[in-house]
Amino acid sequence: MSENIFKNIHNEPGLFRNKELLRHTHIPNRLPHRNGEIDALRRNLVEALSGNIPSNMILYGVTGAGKTAVTRFVLGQLEEKAREIGSDVSTTDINCRNIDTQYRVLAHLGNSIIDDFEEKIPFTGWPTDKVYSELMKRMDSNGGVHVIVLDEVDHLVKKSGDDLLYNLTSMNTMFRNARMCVIGISNDLTFTEHLDPRVRSRLGQEDVFFAPYDANQLQEILRNRLDALRESCVNDGVIELCAAMGAREHGDARRALDLLRASAEEAERENGDIIETRHVRIAHNRLERDQMTPTISTLPLHQKLVLFSVLVHDRRGVRRISTGEVYQVYKQACRNANSIPLTARRITDLISNLDMLGLISANTISRGRYGRSKEITSCIPSTLDAATIMVKSDDTMSPVIKATYSVQGSLR
Ligand code: ADP
Ligand code: MG
Repeated sequence: MSENIFKNIHNEPGLFRNKELLRHTHIPNRLPHRNGEIDALRRNLVEALSGNIPSNMILYGVTGAGKTAVTRFVLGQLEEKAREIGSDVSTTDINCRNIDTQYRVLAHLGNSIIDDFEEKIPFTGWPTDKVYSELMKRMDSNGGVHVIVLDEVDHLVKKSGDDLLYNLTSMNTMFRNARMCVIGISNDLTFTEHLDPRVRSRLGQEDVFFAPYDANQLQEILRNRLDALRESCVNDGVIELCAAMGAREHGDARRALDLLRASAEEAERENGDIIETRHVRIAHNRLERDQMTPTISTLPLHQKLVLFSVLVHDRRGVRRISTGEVYQVYKQACRNANSIPLTARRITDLISNLDMLGLISANTISRGRYGRSKEITSCIPSTLDAATIMVKSDDTMSPVIKATYSVQGSLR
């Protein structure tokens, strides 16, 4: 056999010393600016070490605010201490973005308790009640305190409702030996509004809010990860720029770390040995492109038509447009797509949705005595050819992007 194809790549001198340190999955053992949040978890979960029931908790905050990292860190410490003092505590961490129905979460929890393959709960097929009672039985016969973390639980609740949370938080009243608590983590700040009031009061016995990081805090987080890179390969201003961009995004540490990693990759691609602020800008565009392309491709047709209508204005240099202006072009686009336009009211919903996806920004502004209206602007970078992405994923868009449009705003 000839030489391994990875040999040279692996040996190549690059800018990274340990890329792992910049990955999302890496849990650092120091989490600056999260002492308060760590302490809130610690004070509550310490109860488990003496066999008591910790309160249920909801942790919430924007993405990249450190919720997952803090929780995993604290659970790791809790397990370590429990082992050391011989306390019966077990923890399970489920990401509800992947495991997103009540059945699957219950089955996953049940299976994480029993290793024996013969006794695995099947992924489908049982009545949910049976999975629930099997899980209860297993937890109770195991005994001890179970800490169950449901990360990104807002996804599950939006998709499958809050029955799971109701059922899980009912368990303590029925256990004879075991005890349990639930920690729900949500990226959606309005998550609790989707919960039945009974579930809300049971789950939210203790809420912990993770505030977005500011640029200075992000700088410190980045500097703590510089072991990932070779020494002195980061030019002045690079960390500051990554942090500023992460802060602008919404105080997102994940974004800042991604940017630093991608900037190093850009510098490597040029065979450079220094990361410059220029690389950060290139990396920023690349990340936005990589992130937006699949989002745009998978939009349903009328979402695409609305987005396209915003882009028609954008291309003519007309920014901060109103819902009415979007609607005018949208109706023309529908005609070209041979599709019946939705009502203006529905378009307002679609605009909010595109805003949530980060493809446009729609700010509500007050127009004094004329009431309130929206100012809509595209967030798609000019380096990304959104129209082509739309056509590639949906033929119907082909005549739409070729047509010409009359735009009111261009007369302004
Ligand atoms: P969330 O779960 O709130 O979306 P994460 O916990 O996944 O955010 O954090 C995103 C990334 O930022 C992870 O790589 C994490 O290790 C890192 N991170 C977040 N907060 C800190 C912090 N205070 N110190 C160091 N790294 C952090
Ligand atoms: Mg998370």
